[in-house]
Amino acid sequence: MIPLSEKCTPREEARVAFEVADRLKRLPPYLFSEIDRKKKAALAAGRDVINLGIGDPDTPTPAFVIEALARHARDPATHTYALDEGDPGLRRAVADFMKRRFGVELDAAGELLPLIGTKEGIGHLPLALLDPGDAALVPEPCYPPYRSGTIFAGAEPIYMPLARERGFLPDLEAIRPADAARAKAIYVNYPNNPTGAVAPRAFYESLVAFAEANDLVIVSDAAYTELALEGERPMSLLEVPGARARTIEFHSFSKTFNMTGWRVGWAAGAAGLVAALGRVKSNLDSGVFTAIQRAAAEALGRYDEFVPGLCATYRARRDALCEGLARLGWEVERPRATFYVWAPVPGGGSSIEASSHILEEADIVCTPGVGFGAPGEGFVRFALTVGEERLAEAVERLAKLRW
Ligand code: PLP
Repeated sequence: MIPLSEKCTPREEARVAFEVADRLKRLPPYLFSEIDRKKKAALAAGRDVINLGIGDPDTPTPAFVIEALARHARDPATHTYALDEGDPGLRRAVADFMKRRFGVELDAAGELLPLIGTKEGIGHLPLALLDPGDAALVPEPCYPPYRSGTIFAGAEPIYMPLARERGFLPDLEAIRPADAARAKAIYVNYPNNPTGAVAPRAFYESLVAFAEANDLVIVSDAAYTELALEGERPMSLLEVPGARARTIEFHSFSKTFNMTGWRVGWAAGAAGLVAALGRVKSNLDSGVFTAIQRAAAEALGRYDEFVPGLCATYRARRDALCEGLARLGWEVERPRATFYVWAPVPGGGSSIEASSHILEEADIVCTPGVGFGAPGEGFVRFALTVGEERLAEAVERLAKLRW
């Protein structure tokens, strides 16, 4: 039974209650409810909670993007339904960016598509690609929509564990031939949420060869390519010869420009895949507010004014947290990209118990690794979404914990 409306009395609700669809019942269990409840209780009790739980930037969208939005919002031409194929100016800006940043030349008309955030595109893609009974190879731990999108399309996720010993890259040779033959798509996400891992070119080359050998579509989630914390900047899979024919890659404005609430991103890659996703979308949504698309195009044009500084901020925070945790004896690796620190639980205990302990005893919210899939057990994820002083305070509080 699900509550239909807060206005319903319990009796009315009982009369109209219904059974939810099987696809909802097939979703993996939501493992964050206990932590959510404890976090709410801590906040309600007025405790000084340090929230390193959710991957949502704490610093604002650049002022020049906000000003661009205001300017474009005053133009009545932006007030109508957006074009299905997105604003031509944004498509051009994205094509220029992909060329400048990755050396990937794309046809702005056929190989790119603006999205209402990458989550929307990732969630809808399986409806274009997978039929009931099909399967998709999904890494674990992972950003949850790869699993849920596959399940909503009636297909089955076949999980590929990401282990620390392998740099959190899937072991393609360990995939059973029968699974590879049955799967229609393989998901990858580098730089990776939650582990912070970056894929080396050699891995991407072997992935393309594997996908060619097994006739797989590659779904590459590139939402974090711009949050580079070391000198080298993560690559796009589309740079690899052969990838473009069978890859759809998802890019986001959310983390690059602190625009999570704006809901804008894009898909790029094989024209057939991009067009198929576009067909699903044109039946389900009406695009991104055109003023937002135009402001997003301006953001890409002024990338150098903002993104290097943002990366420097996260680098300093990463160092503050990782050095602090290392001093406490945590065996933590410094991520080379993303704003996540994927930390093994001291002593190797359960991630849900560890995050409950950290919240109850230190008033720090972090995310239990098992919530990203079973191989995430034994880890917790800290998001670097507070300043260095606050992170130093978090380390001081963690120092007092007993494991
Ligand atoms: N992909 C990954 C790996 C993410 O972690 C997130 C958000 O946290 C997204 C995609 C969603 O990005 P967007 O805001 O563009 O929907």
